[in-house]
Amino acid sequence: MASTQFNFMPVAIKPGSSACHYVGRFAPSPTGPLHFGSLVSAVASYLDAKANKGEWLVRIEDIDPPRESSGSSDKILRQLQEHGLQWDREVLYQSHRTEAYLSALKTLKRSGLIFSCHCSRQQLKEYAATHSYPCPPTSSSTLSSLRLLAEDNKIIIFDDIFQGQQRQSIKEEVGDMVLCRKDGLYAYQLAVVIDDCFQKITHVIRGSDLLESTPRQIYLQNLLKFPTPTYGHVPIAVDKEGRKLSKQNLAPSLGCQAATKNLTNAISWLGLSLPDKLSKTNHCDELLAWATAHWNHDKVPRMQQSQNPDNLK
Ligand code: GLU
Repeated sequence: MASTQFNFMPVAIKPGSSACHYVGRFAPSPTGPLHFGSLVSAVASYLDAKANKGEWLVRIEDIDPPRESSGSSDKILRQLQEHGLQWDREVLYQSHRTEAYLSALKTLKRSGLIFSCHCSRQQLKEYAATHSYPCPPTSSSTLSSLRLLAEDNKIIIFDDIFQGQQRQSIKEEVGDMVLCRKDGLYAYQLAVVIDDCFQKITHVIRGSDLLESTPRQIYLQNLLKFPTPTYGHVPIAVDKEGRKLSKQNLAPSLGCQAATKNLTNAISWLGLSLPDKLSKTNHCDELLAWATAHWNHDKVPRMQQSQNPDNLK
């Protein structure tokens, strides 16, 4: 079977090396304030960037107003600063980037891979199983999404820093992904790819709940002739029932009074044991400087871990 491989050579970047200018990012959706799970992703991406003498950017992914909660963007930015996580360039807001998303859609349309569709994912699967065309043509009065036709035999393979080699068949495991929803909003997968390229992101370090999205993003990067960053997915925090700590699951917001405690917990979560002399510090900067100097991919746990609720405050 023909396969398209998008492997990238793992380049060992020594801290201080000028071989590649490292640009990392943290890209929260403003659906609520930061919780412990999102702090872990922010800290991991920050430490990886700083350990490589790189830049760390923050992008607010505010392209889904129905899911957003008012005031969350500002709150998240305040919380990051309260934890000593200072970004290196102006914050990019996806709500200001719709022209770029439209222009990428036009490029993809020219390749003949975009079709308009009013089916649910399930209907589409059933239709695709019995017909050669993905779904019946839509009348102009029906609300439709724009989908990207999954090409046959596209297998995406990539090496994740923490999770090892990953492989996904776009046709069988993803199907025709939505790039623009029926309500006219752009899909996360499209916007994230456009903006990672626009911001020249070289390294994407984020929670492993997004591991399955990465091959879709690499597939889109390939179609748009964009470079593919290096990816690393750190384990996500789950509650005692094994559910991801998320704003939707009402994970508690981080309290800023406990910023050094939150940071200590996040750093330990990522496999580093802080020295006793830092256990009483009130300075987030000291914790981050120590963790940057001791950041080690081999110490980051590979599996998701359950978070002790006492540590969530
Ligand atoms: N905005 C996404 C979220 O908050 C993360 C996107 C990404 O890191 O690629 O889950």
